[in-house]
Amino acid sequence: MNITVIGTGYVGLVTGACFSELGVTVTCIDKDAAKIESLRQGKIPIFEPGLEEVVLKNIREKRLSFTTNMDEALDRSLVIFIAVGTPSDEAGNADLRFVREVAAGIGKRLREYKVIVTKSTVPMGTGAMIREIIEKNRPGDALFSVASNPEFLREGSAVEDFMHPNRIVIGTEDSQAAAILRDLYRPLYLIETPFVITDVVTAEMIKYASNAFLATKISFINEIARLCDRLGADVHDVARGMGLDNRIGRKFLHPGPGFGGSCFPKDTAAVVAVARSHGEDFKVVRAVMEVNDEQPEIMIRKILEVTGEPKGKVAAVLGISFKPNTDDIRESPALRIIEGLRSRGMQVRAYDPIAMDNARAVLSGITFCRDEYDAVTGADVLVIVTEWNQFRALDLERLRSLMKRPAIVDLRNVYEPAEMARRGFVYRCVGRRTLDPV
Ligand code: NAD
Repeated sequence: MNITVIGTGYVGLVTGACFSELGVTVTCIDKDAAKIESLRQGKIPIFEPGLEEVVLKNIREKRLSFTTNMDEALDRSLVIFIAVGTPSDEAGNADLRFVREVAAGIGKRLREYKVIVTKSTVPMGTGAMIREIIEKNRPGDALFSVASNPEFLREGSAVEDFMHPNRIVIGTEDSQAAAILRDLYRPLYLIETPFVITDVVTAEMIKYASNAFLATKISFINEIARLCDRLGADVHDVARGMGLDNRIGRKFLHPGPGFGGSCFPKDTAAVVAVARSHGEDFKVVRAVMEVNDEQPEIMIRKILEVTGEPKGKVAAVLGISFKPNTDDIRESPALRIIEGLRSRGMQVRAYDPIAMDNARAVLSGITFCRDEYDAVTGADVLVIVTEWNQFRALDLERLRSLMKRPAIVDLRNVYEPAEMARRGFVYRCVGRRTLDPV
């Protein structure tokens, strides 16, 4: 089967590369000519573990190609995935400009039957909008189906998630399209991946409901951690005690500086906006957003409790990406924490293993460091914002010899409070009792 993926970002590139790995011939399209050119030369524009190997192998085996030209790719493809960005507009609605642009482009070139599938996260009703745009733009009366196939991959483990998903959701009103998509996903069906086949609007809703629920778990445990901080309870034990109940589950009950990334912040805002436009007030998700919005400021207060007067003090910030194993810094809580420290007069020395180039493009007035030990040199406090593996076993003696004061604010609860006190560090974390250094 030949397919086209339009939009070659985190989702489009992973989708295209992984389908080609499953034996499908894939053309990835993007309007960003520089990105396409570098992909053609085998250069991967994002950091995603395992992706480069899959891309290079399938370019070599001629199942994966890249172009900016819609005409040639669409003609030979039966299935066209839309994987362009759907960022938030100022009111929190998903901005569907790119989706509309692509739908019109597909419509203008529609000469024979195609299945047009949204992989982008789009508000309920977008499938119907795409259908209308294509009908309006098609030159003749070629038939087509519209389907929704939301993507659930996580950055940092996207290839693994694509190849071993928890489920595949296919929304379409058309049995022919459902059969074609089921056939496309047959290799995953054979490894017993559950399929949810439903209508378009329900599939669109499943994606928003899933992300809103996951974000709810994060804000929930962050509020529990705030209470733990006040009461002297231990949030790790609380999360474990809760999570062992199968009805709750252990995942996503880890407190921290709040959720970021390209999905949860915009998808929670979008679901609230969709609800509002249909006369519903989605109170739970509004509260989830409010808690998350407060979280970086609460983290900054923890840092200031350790340093005292911030003016002239130096903070070493480890981790800028919104989570480990990605270079994505979109909506990363690290950005707000760094800005907050800087605006209070602190000097910031920052290091991230992979996201430095992206960080340099948006942050100014801070010192970008060579590694974690360079970052802590002369620092009054070390702040762990993203739990990259290499920050999990720092050489504490070396830290102590390089820092002005041995003080750590661990926003991901990587270290054990008792051990840190024993090693002579002033140590603060999220929702766990800490001890004075011995
Ligand atoms: P991205 O910004 O990394 O990539 C989007 C790409 O689309 C860009 O390369 C852009 O140049 C391209 N594009 C925009 N308009 C185009 C057009 N008219 N023609 C061709 N290309 C065009 O975005 P992403 O993170 O891959 O997200 C894409 C969608 O998938 C979003 O709706 C997002 O919510 C959803 N999603 C993302 C993730 C994730 O972890 N990143 C997970 C699941 C779902």
